[in-house]
Amino acid sequence: MKRVFVNGYGSIGSRIIQFIADDRDIEVAGVGKYSPDEKVGDAISRGFKVFVPKNKIDHFKNFDISGTIEDNISDCDLVIDASPGGIGYENKKALYEPRNIRAIFQGGEKITGEKTVASFIFNSRVNYEKAFDKQFAMQGSCNVTGMGRIIQPLKEKYGKKIKRLDATLLRRWADLEDSKTIVKDSIEWSYNPHHDEDVKSYMGVDTPLFIRAFKVPTRQMHVHAMDVRFDGPAPSAEEIINLYKNEYGVATLYGVKGTKDIRDYAESIKFSFKDTNMIHIHADLTEVQDDVVKLTYSDDQTGIVVPENHLLMQAMLFKRKKEDAFRHTEELFHMYEKKRMLEAHFKERINNTV
Ligand code: NAD
Repeated sequence: MKRVFVNGYGSIGSRIIQFIADDRDIEVAGVGKYSPDEKVGDAISRGFKVFVPKNKIDHFKNFDISGTIEDNISDCDLVIDASPGGIGYENKKALYEPRNIRAIFQGGEKITGEKTVASFIFNSRVNYEKAFDKQFAMQGSCNVTGMGRIIQPLKEKYGKKIKRLDATLLRRWADLEDSKTIVKDSIEWSYNPHHDEDVKSYMGVDTPLFIRAFKVPTRQMHVHAMDVRFDGPAPSAEEIINLYKNEYGVATLYGVKGTKDIRDYAESIKFSFKDTNMIHIHADLTEVQDDVVKLTYSDDQTGIVVPENHLLMQAMLFKRKKEDAFRHTEELFHMYEKKRMLEAHFKERINNTV
């Protein structure tokens, strides 16, 4: 039994802790909360012990908290840091490094420059075993994780025949539960999006990937439009779609009108947190023109990284064989069943509309 502390109880932290609480090999040591809001009660009502920073303890006197983060994390085997982007680095310096505690960071952190949290980005499809002895590892962001799931099978099948991967990322503005962020009526762009460097850090610096990223006014997932240019005639759309048939965490859907369609279905079928935990290839948008395959897929921003954190945790804590780790993650996340249901539902609809 290993003790794991989750530091931060926002979109990602609240999901991770809920799933790992059902893991028979893990004792959840508690969760770190930084603001005395309604989410403290939410965490306690779900059976989690809440710990707070020493210097903020007075702010939480109306809540039944269990102690301070500083006192509680020392005897943990691992901290899963789910703080806002950039704060993970501060936590590393103030909390984890001085106590020599191992930690997983989330995708809003940096892997180069002054504020590096780790030199390693995890993607279960690409580098599962490399996480075994790491003290610090970063789980790639939702977009970075999704791109790995798409690019790795292409790379394995076509290798150097792929000349370029040009991806346009349409990123959601805020998460569903994030009532504080106002979704602005604007389309914004990112200068030097981090995704390019992050993906190349684990897929290889020679990956011919070129990214543009735009933030669009929605809370409902990300969409990536990826053009895969081949050296010579491109494979057929059918061949490309078949490539993803048995990929874990990749569903192939038809007849979807937009990302909300998928969330609404996830909600109707009572998937936890309305998440599918995967990417969805929109098969009927896949086109081939001469040497280019045009792929479109959507990426469940909040859900996709949660099973990945669970896989990374198993690699770091148990050095479990990859197949065993996936089997164990499947017991908690039921990804095969979710994929089957999504594919059945979004196949039927196109059949019904023709
Ligand atoms: P969030 O704002 O929903 O939650 C962050 C939580 O951390 C908040 O509850 C905040 O009060 C708390 N916090 C504040 N200071 C803290 C500290 N010093 N230590 C620990 N926690 C602290 O953010 P989020 O969306 O859950 O994102 C967390 C991380 O996960 C970021 O790195 C983000 O880039 C990454 N990520 C987010 C998504 C997503 O869709 N939301 C997807 C993939 C990765």
